[in-house]
Amino acid sequence: MPERGCGTNVSPLDAWLAGRLPGDGGDLPARVRGAQLAALRRLLRYVTERSAFYAEHFSGRDTGLARPEDLRRLPFTEAGHLRDWRKFLCVSHSRVRRVVSLNTSGTTGPPKRLAFSENDLAATRNFFRVGLSELTGPGGRLGVLLPGGERPDGVADQLRQALASLNIAVESPPRDMTAHDGAGMHALAGWVEQRAFHCLVAAPGQLRSLFTFFPEAPKALRGVLSSADNLDPELGHALRSAWNCDLRDHYGLTESGFGLAVECAAHDGYHLRELDIAVEIVDVQSGVPMPPGSEGEIVITTLRHEAMPLVRYRTGDVASLLPGPCRCGSPMPRLGPIAGRLERKPGAPARLTRLLKGGYQ
Ligand SMILES: [Zn+2]
Repeated sequence: MPERGCGTNVSPLDAWLAGRLPGDGGDLPARVRGAQLAALRRLLRYVTERSAFYAEHFSGRDTGLARPEDLRRLPFTEAGHLRDWRKFLCVSHSRVRRVVSLNTSGTTGPPKRLAFSENDLAATRNFFRVGLSELTGPGGRLGVLLPGGERPDGVADQLRQALASLNIAVESPPRDMTAHDGAGMHALAGWVEQRAFHCLVAAPGQLRSLFTFFPEAPKALRGVLSSADNLDPELGHALRSAWNCDLRDHYGLTESGFGLAVECAAHDGYHLRELDIAVEIVDVQSGVPMPPGSEGEIVITTLRHEAMPLVRYRTGDVASLLPGPCRCGSPMPRLGPIAGRLERKPGAPARLTRLLKGGYQ
């Protein structure tokens, strides 16, 4: 059985990043920056040649980059653009492995969709493997509770493929147990108890419900990954203390290929998959880049997606980039917690719904 997780080792993402960089040794942030610049140059050539949307969007613009910051010269990609998702495609339909509709409740018009190739999904699996192998431990059992996780090519399937080589068994509950009602949660809690998982992947709402069934940790549990929604910091603290386990929060979007940033054991911000996704923080209204430590909208560029890469995509989520080393010892910048979400309506300023009181704490 894997040992209970502990300590504040440097985020395993650093070794993962370093292992993917050319050469060895040296200043990790500088090496990552160099690799991001090379990836951005490749990406801009790729999308302007292959994507009808970007050929038009960047038409007449200087897409040559001398440094990563030159990317700021290019216009944003907005969520509304994704209604024309076919114009973003850079590969033939036969190479699209999965198409996901974005949740756009309350809006009209064609659905916004994202397409992923097998390579795109594999890149996310690699990211998940790093974080979840540490939380679960080799040979352990991982329970994926996220609603809808069991659909074909869904998160449970991806994790099963990601973790098979580490002999980690991935299970998800029968469909009737994921109903978010009293009976569903009771059945889910019984299943969690019976399966004796070493790690759980669950949404914050599910964790809150499970907490009422388990004032102390379910047996064998050593790690929890909270995902799919904003984790209330108070719930995070309460669970960590009562369950005495390594509970980490994950932030990802469908647009980022699901995974984007994850906490380390030191809980000092969210470490990024910087070789796959470049992150900018910009002023909510003006779009001007914000300095490190200041809140603004998260803008992502998916550096290596091949089916439907996004360049300077406005996520609508608000956070800051945390400068300086992490408490775990990593020199890499991290994303702060999601402080709020933006709602945009045509002709009106963006409206911010705050999730954290008083901004980043
Ligand atoms: Zn860290």
